Amino acid sequence: MSRPARARIDLTAVRHNYRQAKALAPGVRALAIVKANAYGHGAVAVARALGNEADAFGVSCIEEAVELREANIGAPILLLEGVFEPRELPLVEAYNLATVVHRLEQLEWLVSARPARRLDVWLKMDSGMHRIGLAPEALRSAYQRLAECPHIGALVLMTHFARADELACTATREQIACFDRHVAGIPAPHSLANSAGLMAWSDARRDWVRPGIMLYGASPLAADHPASAGLRPTMYLESALISVRNLAAGEPVGYGARFVCPRPTRVGVVAIGYADGYPRHARDGTPIAVNGHSTRVIGRVSMDMLTLDLTELPEARPGDPVELWGGNIDVNAVATNSDTIAYQLFVGVSQRVPRHYEGTEI
Ligand SMILES: *Cc1c(COP(=O)(O)O)cnc(C)c1O
Repeated sequence: MSRPARARIDLTAVRHNYRQAKALAPGVRALAIVKANAYGHGAVAVARALGNEADAFGVSCIEEAVELREANIGAPILLLEGVFEPRELPLVEAYNLATVVHRLEQLEWLVSARPARRLDVWLKMDSGMHRIGLAPEALRSAYQRLAECPHIGALVLMTHFARADELACTATREQIACFDRHVAGIPAPHSLANSAGLMAWSDARRDWVRPGIMLYGASPLAADHPASAGLRPTMYLESALISVRNLAAGEPVGYGARFVCPRPTRVGVVAIGYADGYPRHARDGTPIAVNGHSTRVIGRVSMDMLTLDLTELPEARPGDPVELWGGNIDVNAVATNSDTIAYQLFVGVSQRVPRHYEGTEI
């Protein structure tokens, strides 16, 4: 028997979630975001699972795009940060990629390139997040330069939201208004919405939407939001009990004796730890499931192991299955208890954890 830690990936659920995303904005095209190895799920597997259904894929850099092309993924691929240096432009051409322009220097690199075919460009405006993107006032002239350039193909106008998950906050409405003010009359499609934008802001559902985290079944909104309800978990992080012991009241558990048993306590040890990507900052009480029953993490998470409370589960034995997140345990609950977000938990699942794929490919 090998080490039981694994991440089970449900590709049918990924496809279901992609269809949910599309259903929120009928007639609109979707860029399925598969950057960072499809949020830890495996970019090639996810791209193959979406097959011909995905209108396009979004990645962070050329290496991620090349990985998809080498795996024979033929759909359009967008580099979400564009190129980092002009030397990459021949690869953009060779691998048939679309690229973002978020600063004027990238525009100059593109205009001075001499590709043998037209390059598609997504022109990004900073409408208020203040991370990347052209100033709103600079967008129109940048668009005109690209539109007049004979080797530039299709153009899309895009922006990105800082606070779309905050439903009571006016920032998203202001970002949309800023975008609309500065693109008025430009004859190009729009792309505004990430998952939260798509789920919560109907004004943001324009020609192209860009769902990421929702494809992986973790809602960026509260669990009781109607758009969260239809999402299915795609990653089940699992392992097994490797040891069980009974401790008396007053006995400590694990490094630093963070947890001290307040009563006689049955303690289980699970073969998974922070070297696998389980968050070291998970607090006592973080939900975890044994044999499908919810219980709680107690004691500090170690590199390769963690400890949990089996007092209410007296039947549990070494070898019994443990779910860290997935069907019984919402990844968002683990994130909240670890002062992080589902995104970081997904991308943090380390290489040591084998991925087991389930679900039909198209
Ligand atoms: C990562 C990313 C997304 C997806 O965001 P989610 O919150 O995961 O839906 C969308 N657009 C851009 C530009 C991104 O970088």
